[in-house]
Amino acid sequence: MSGVLRKAAITGHPVSHSRSPLIHGYWLKKHGLEGEYGRLDVPPEDAERFYGNFRDAGLIGANVTVPFKEIAAKACDWLDEAASAMGAANTLWLDENGRLCGANTDGLGFLGNLDQLAPNWDENSGTAVVLGAGGAARAIVWALISRNYTTVHIVNRTREKAEKISDEFGAGTVAHDWDNLGTTLAVADVLVNTTSLGMTGKPPLEIDLSNLPAHTLVNDIVYSPLETDLLKLAAARGNPTVDGIGMLLHQAVPAFERWFGERPVVTDELRTLALKDLGVIA
Ligand code: NAP
Repeated sequence: MSGVLRKAAITGHPVSHSRSPLIHGYWLKKHGLEGEYGRLDVPPEDAERFYGNFRDAGLIGANVTVPFKEIAAKACDWLDEAASAMGAANTLWLDENGRLCGANTDGLGFLGNLDQLAPNWDENSGTAVVLGAGGAARAIVWALISRNYTTVHIVNRTREKAEKISDEFGAGTVAHDWDNLGTTLAVADVLVNTTSLGMTGKPPLEIDLSNLPAHTLVNDIVYSPLETDLLKLAAARGNPTVDGIGMLLHQAVPAFERWFGERPVVTDELRTLALKDLGVIA
């Protein structure tokens, strides 16, 4: 590859909203590396052909946004454990034999954020409660199981979706509808909101934390606003809390390392840059 500019990109439809160019651009500059990270809009009707012929794109790798993560995973010759478990890849690269490889780093982003901001949070991994059963919830359930959480309660408005995730991950995961929330909170060591409730422009997350043990770590993956009502409520009763912006930044770490050969760090400077770019802070 020497002499050839290493290029990667965010691929999907749409890609204009993605903060990945900002994150990877920051690290390329920080590490003084020659390389490029751009945006590549892939029209839906072209997605299967594009990922199936990724070698022709002139990229060493790519990120993949919704709704193409499943198509990208199917096009891969090799998948890491998370992408294989989820049937969805958000990170692609070509190996030395030209094989297309895929990873799913969403769960790693969740873990990296908690590892950085709440060290040893998983020391006595016991019971976790995950609110929501969408794409992010699936990655987080995978991540919690990878850290040996023995029971993961998945609580969702549409119980069938929680059951689908529970069926996929099997023993140790339990699906609930919202009515069971109070009971599950009483046994939670970790509580994660993965619904869009509480996000700017969305309905509030109405939750009664009176059953929550004092030690329970509360994480909201919604990052706009940064300090959600859930985090405020939890902090006011003394629970440890972690906000969601770090998950977005940490999911990019393994991808950057894979493409450009150096492991980057999620700094406060990068957090501030991303939050400003997102309009979350002035
Ligand atoms: P998704 O697949 O669309 O899932 C949305 C979830 O929110 C579902 O469980 C849905 O319940 C629930 N929900 C939506 N409106 C609701 C309402 N009015 N009442 C009750 N539940 C409601 O979305 P996603 O990709 O998982 O993302 C979810 C949130 O996480 C978004 O706010 C996203 O911005 C954030 N996120 C953050 C990061 C990060 O890096 N920090 C990464 C990914 C996602 P139903 O199944 O009943 O519809």
